[in-house]
Amino acid sequence: MEIIFLGTGGGRINLINQTRATGGFIISGSKNIHVDPGPGALVHMRKLGLVPRKTNVLVVTHSHIDHISDAGVLIEGMSNYGLKKGGILIAAEDSLEGKTDGQRISEFHLTKVEKIVNAKPGESFDFEGGKFTFTKAIHDTFPAFGFILEMDGKYIGYTGDTEYYGGMDKLFDGCDLLILNVMKPFPDQYHGHLTAEDASKLIGRVQPKLAILTHMGMKMQSYPAEKKAKEIEEETGVKTIAATDGLRIPSDQF
Ligand SMILES: [Zn+2]
Repeated sequence: MEIIFLGTGGGRINLINQTRATGGFIISGSKNIHVDPGPGALVHMRKLGLVPRKTNVLVVTHSHIDHISDAGVLIEGMSNYGLKKGGILIAAEDSLEGKTDGQRISEFHLTKVEKIVNAKPGESFDFEGGKFTFTKAIHDTFPAFGFILEMDGKYIGYTGDTEYYGGMDKLFDGCDLLILNVMKPFPDQYHGHLTAEDASKLIGRVQPKLAILTHMGMKMQSYPAEKKAKEIEEETGVKTIAATDGLRIPSDQF
């Protein structure tokens, strides 16, 4: 199994400027799982020689454009160019039904998916070869989630976009790898996201074998992110990496 970071950028300025790429990440093991296919997901996959038709599971953790924009084209990949229903789509209700002002996946593309899972925090979903447990995320007015994926003998935790909340460390307890969306190196008034301080607290409490920071904004870029990861590593005693676009992490590293 390996984790492939297509894009590691977050935040609206980065999104448009593409200082860091966007497009989410892929967990490639007994199943190919693409998480948060934002702008560029398809293009970055092809650049890395990855085959969209081999995607088995698509996960959209919430309906902000940097997480959902390329879901439709990837569904066309999962469904053999849209010719045959295929793949599993895991998404929050709003991405499926568009009840609020978030983006949604088109009705056309929803008909191309073999199975749709409406992910709700606290619930789980078993598939052949693995299991997702969905975790709470406090982010915007519409539903969002993170997850713990159990596959190929490993537990991989992903925070999604969320602010820190009480009990979060207990949810991710036992994860071998923890992937965290960390927009900024400093605390500020911008709610709905983990600060680097929150990330350090979570990593320190969960004690995964490896922690990876991604979904980073412009201030993480200038800090720079590598320095912040080193600081977190020193604070927590946990090996911590700031992901870079195209980074591949084989599972023997966690
Ligand atoms: Zn978001």
